[in-house]
Amino acid sequence: MYDIIIVGGGTAGLSAAIYGVRAGKKVLVLEQKNYGGQIVNSPEIENYPGIKHISGYEFATGLYEQATGLGAGFERGKVIGITDKGDTKLVSTEKKEYETRTVILATGAKNRPLGVEEETRFMGAGLSYCATCDGAFFRDREVAVVGGGNTALEDALFLSGYCKKVSVIHRREEFRGESRKLQALQEKENVEFILDTVVTKLQGDTMIEGVILKNVVTDEETEKKLNGLFVAIGQMPDNEAFKDLVTVDEKGYIQAEEDCLTRTAGIFTAGDCRTKTVRQLTTAAADGAVAALAACEYIG
Ligand code: NAP
Repeated sequence: MYDIIIVGGGTAGLSAAIYGVRAGKKVLVLEQKNYGGQIVNSPEIENYPGIKHISGYEFATGLYEQATGLGAGFERGKVIGITDKGDTKLVSTEKKEYETRTVILATGAKNRPLGVEEETRFMGAGLSYCATCDGAFFRDREVAVVGGGNTALEDALFLSGYCKKVSVIHRREEFRGESRKLQALQEKENVEFILDTVVTKLQGDTMIEGVILKNVVTDEETEKKLNGLFVAIGQMPDNEAFKDLVTVDEKGYIQAEEDCLTRTAGIFTAGDCRTKTVRQLTTAAADGAVAALAACEYIG
């Protein structure tokens, strides 16, 4: 029997694990992929208080080593359901079942797809959602990044170091991402901006060879040849499996107050998977601490 099972091994989940084990609880983190969550793919972090500069991978590895070094268990497995048995909960993965007193849902968010035809067919065939994972395959090639947030700006900056040319395709004129990142990108000679524009079609035989673009102001359609397309248009939650136990908002994020409590006693939530206005490393870590301490208090 575990005291706390944490679903998701990203920043929120691993922070919760650190607080849980330090409070003397038996803690297990269940993660369907690798530890670290989204931040693993961030080339650099410069806004985590107290750390001037660190790569996402280094940051996530530090968190993982801290949590497991303190005694938190870590297992791979996709959680497909949770049964509320009152004082205990049964957490089911595709292979195993675990009993626990409390659960912290820290499932993060997954990449939002473009929503164009044949998107799945081109995944891994010139279409990527992770510039740091796949950027090196496009050395000296022409690529585009779709999106106007921090991820898109960071991805474009990263790719500009490898690629012959990087086009930033954004549906508006203003960028959501930080002006500092935008300015750094504007100073790059091999970066162009295609604004007020969306991708409507992917072209190519076995690999992406181009896209059809539509200017949303003039409705004009143009064709653009490229070798790679990086999609960075934000994330969406993945809380389908827990809908019977927690209330989700219209976008699928779990609703909870500042105490990270969901509507089911003993089930807490932390990080990007919950309804909130600011999704940052700092807020994920803070949520992890709050949820773990609330779980400890609930256990008594
Ligand atoms: P985001 O901030 O939600 O930005 C998503 C971007 O994609 C927006 O520019 C949005 O356009 C555009 N978009 C959304 N749906 C689209 C669609 N269907 N077609 C075309 N464009 C679409 O997502 P993010 O950049 O992944 O960042 C997520 C969070 O992580 C943010 O809070 C961000 O600040 C944070 N983050 C921080 C760092 C850092 O500080 N180092 C790095 C990466 C991410 P509109 O602007 O028109 O809505």
